[in-house]
Amino acid sequence: MAERKYNFSAGPGYLPEEVIEQARHDLWDIRGTGIGIAEHSHRGKTYDDIVVETEAACRKVGNIPSNYKVLFVTGGSTSQNYMVPANLLAQHETADYLVTGYWAERSAEQAPLYGRVHRAFDGGKHNHTFIPSDSEIRYSENPSYVHWCSNNTIYGTQFKKEPKVPEGVPSVCDMCSDIFSRPVDFKKYGLAYASAQKNIGIAGTTLVVIREDLLDRNPRELPLMLQYRVHARDESRHNTPPVFPIYMCGLMFNWILAQGGVEAIARRNEAKAKIIYDVLDASSFWIGHARKDSRSLMNVTFRAPTPELDEEFLKEAAARGMEQMKGHRVTGGMRASIYNAFPERGCHALADLMRDFERRKG
Ligand SMILES: *Cc1c(COP(=O)(O)O)cnc(C)c1O
Repeated sequence: MAERKYNFSAGPGYLPEEVIEQARHDLWDIRGTGIGIAEHSHRGKTYDDIVVETEAACRKVGNIPSNYKVLFVTGGSTSQNYMVPANLLAQHETADYLVTGYWAERSAEQAPLYGRVHRAFDGGKHNHTFIPSDSEIRYSENPSYVHWCSNNTIYGTQFKKEPKVPEGVPSVCDMCSDIFSRPVDFKKYGLAYASAQKNIGIAGTTLVVIREDLLDRNPRELPLMLQYRVHARDESRHNTPPVFPIYMCGLMFNWILAQGGVEAIARRNEAKAKIIYDVLDASSFWIGHARKDSRSLMNVTFRAPTPELDEEFLKEAAARGMEQMKGHRVTGGMRASIYNAFPERGCHALADLMRDFERRKG
């Protein structure tokens, strides 16, 4: 078999080799049923078992309290941009949004379809280089909820702790690119969501963790498929769910547990990111995008002094088996995405090349 490359993709991201091996086996025949995982009925015993085990593993990984529902829905994190306000925001109410990057911007843009939006922070004029402190956030009088994005995948910034939202107001978090990369106290959240393809699996399903009382907010008539309540009632099987992606989440949750859980994963993620940030800090050549106190452990964004040198660097990286590191068009430069499953040796390979490149071109 061909050797696998260091894949720095921002999503879909790297998967652990043992997870891929297991999936390969189970696609052919899962658990001795003589039927592959992608061919089992979503109402049958085999899939029943998988759903129950997947949810249990998810709760264990995230230490998710019993008064929260764990849902698997479709449409990506992008669909949560309308599902959240559709389910939680009445027309005459206001929701507060912390606009700290590209995806937070996409979320804030959709909410006015359903109610009023107040931008409690907007980092656009600072090119989204930092995460606001609590004193830089201006909440509205009585928001229905506060929406924020814990890790800004494109700009490479990350909240180090939760923003202090007003007492009693549900905190709604887009955790798409850092879920289960570190311990989180879900009791502080009303709702959190993440599509699976960055830290917990493959594209096709989105994990939603929602506090039970929010299921009954019900500010308007909605199609059944748009109601969290219906997904909760029907145990994420109102229609045919993406069986294989949900099964993959189960493998990933068990993989995280086998690594020692989110505490161990967090220590590893800290160490991995440090390998690359240390190069930036020691360099008079490389330019990091994020302010130092706001740096993401998941997506490291940086550039060379000129776009031509960026191009050259990406070419050299590819020649050494480091792929999909080109930055998003809004930031340019490079973005090294180093999610849970990305191996530490890949971070060393990148750091070595960065130092070497600076010596030759700096
Ligand atoms: C990738 C990403 C999204 C979009 O996810 P989709 O699954 O493509 O809808 C939203 N928010 C954040 C923070 C992301 O990183």
